[in-house]
Amino acid sequence: MPDLAYVNGEFMPIEKAVVPIEDRGYQFGDGVYEFIASYEGRLFMLEEHLDRLERSMRGLNFDPISRSEIKAAICDLAERSGYPRAGIYIQISRGAAPRNHAISPNISPQIIMTIRPVKEIPAAMRKKGATAITVEDTRWDRCDIKTVQLVANSLAKQKALDSGCDDAIFVSASGVVREGTSSNLFIVSGGRLMTHPLTNNILPGITRTAIFRICRQAGLDAEEAFFDTETLYGADEVFLTGTVTEVLPVVRIDGKSIGDGKVGPTTRQIYTLLRQLALEGRSV
Ligand code: PMP
Repeated sequence: MPDLAYVNGEFMPIEKAVVPIEDRGYQFGDGVYEFIASYEGRLFMLEEHLDRLERSMRGLNFDPISRSEIKAAICDLAERSGYPRAGIYIQISRGAAPRNHAISPNISPQIIMTIRPVKEIPAAMRKKGATAITVEDTRWDRCDIKTVQLVANSLAKQKALDSGCDDAIFVSASGVVREGTSSNLFIVSGGRLMTHPLTNNILPGITRTAIFRICRQAGLDAEEAFFDTETLYGADEVFLTGTVTEVLPVVRIDGKSIGDGKVGPTTRQIYTLLRQLALEGRSV
């Protein structure tokens, strides 16, 4: 099966899919997106992703789009591809119109999707743990909306790679540790998990939600709290969470070892529990 695309109701090979050059997603970053992964053919936490997509569209004042139509298209695409472990990218832009900051009243949304096999995190990185740098968070203050305005995330990721690390962690100008370039961040300190509270400054990750539910079920202590880089460097364990990232240990940040510099037991336990859930096809 080829990698497939969906463009406003039509399915086609990805190479055949195009959007108009005056699409506002392309010219203004006026679009939102989701990325959903399947495990053994089942889409993990699909309803939660659809909820967030709706919230993102409301956040940009898009006219409502039928949830059932979007859901049907996602499921249809997954079925047509037949990939057991697929990554589905969904992007909804406000639509195409002659370029103007003011929004045309007659505009209608463009819905595009692509499906490909998930590009897994290398097994060696999962085993040994990833390395990261911190970078100042220069993004706008609505990072809770999943817009396609990802250039700051992309530049931060590239800076990490150019400096020989795997990823970057955004830290506010006042020193608050926020999230990764495409993931949320948790620390484990004295057996307790901590992550940034849900504010405008981070994305409400679906995996983050799953981790809280897993912790409740496993009797692990997890809380939302602001913390600074000193707390980050001094944590026993650090891990990133995301749809593709799943639960990825970080063992070195800004050249400093986290804990003993090895993947920690809590991170390993949570990764195992998340995989179990995903493979069972349950939304926690
Ligand atoms: N934060 C950012 C900035 C992200 O891009 C992502 C990935 N979409 C996440 C967090 C994690 O979100 P999720 O668990 O829903 O993939």
